[in-house]
Amino acid sequence: MMRGSCLCGGVVFDVLGHSRPVIACHCTQCRKQSGHFWAASAVSEDALTLVKSDTLAWYAASDSARRGFCNGCGAFLFWQAMESDQISFAPGAIDGPTGLQIAEHWYEDDAGDYYHGQPTTAEVLYGSCLCGANRFTLSGPMGEVWGCHCHQCRKTSGHYSASFDAPTSMIEWHARRTRDHVGPNGGVRSFCPTCGSGLLFRSASEQSVEAGVIDNPTAGRLVRHIHVSSKGDYYELTDGLPQSPSGE
Ligand SMILES: [Zn+2]
Ligand SMILES: [Zn+2]
Ligand SMILES: [Zn+2]
Repeated sequence: MMRGSCLCGGVVFDVLGHSRPVIACHCTQCRKQSGHFWAASAVSEDALTLVKSDTLAWYAASDSARRGFCNGCGAFLFWQAMESDQISFAPGAIDGPTGLQIAEHWYEDDAGDYYHGQPTTAEVLYGSCLCGANRFTLSGPMGEVWGCHCHQCRKTSGHYSASFDAPTSMIEWHARRTRDHVGPNGGVRSFCPTCGSGLLFRSASEQSVEAGVIDNPTAGRLVRHIHVSSKGDYYELTDGLPQSPSGE
């Protein structure tokens, strides 16, 4: 049995029995909701038990599927096709080993240019959440993007996070409806309570924006993986970028 949970503990689930190999999905919807790209295993619905679902919310980005997230902390946990008896879950939310492996990558053509694509230029970056309740701009280029595999980023993104530095003064909001969750170390994550998209993270000293919520070419570049000592067991990092076991 595997147990998974969101960062705030409002959603806890158990998975019993055989889980499908993990699919990494780079589609625009998964990109926005996870802040980078999503990874999901799947089981039949009766093999997944919701132990706690106080803060579980669903958002349907289309008529074909719904996306389950925690509206207490913004963690992206589930995906389910309408009228399907299968449910996808984020292995990033599982506590302890999963024994799973990423087997396929889907929709790589929709992947962010900051980790999958040709160098671009960007004078203005346009950001938005999946449902569109949040929209902002900031000056480009995105620049350096760091991938973070820490426990908190795993839980909230459903896989691992990718973000770039952007001070508050740089961000111009055109529509804002965010909710804040204060993490165990005092870091604050701002996410959309309607669709669950993670948008910002700020600590006492800095603020970063999730790279996957930018809609246009970014001129960003993923340059480093941090907190790899906390990464999930279901993927390997094979891009040749520097890896740090800590946050440096
Ligand atoms: Zn939560
Ligand atoms: Zn939204
Ligand atoms: Zn992190």
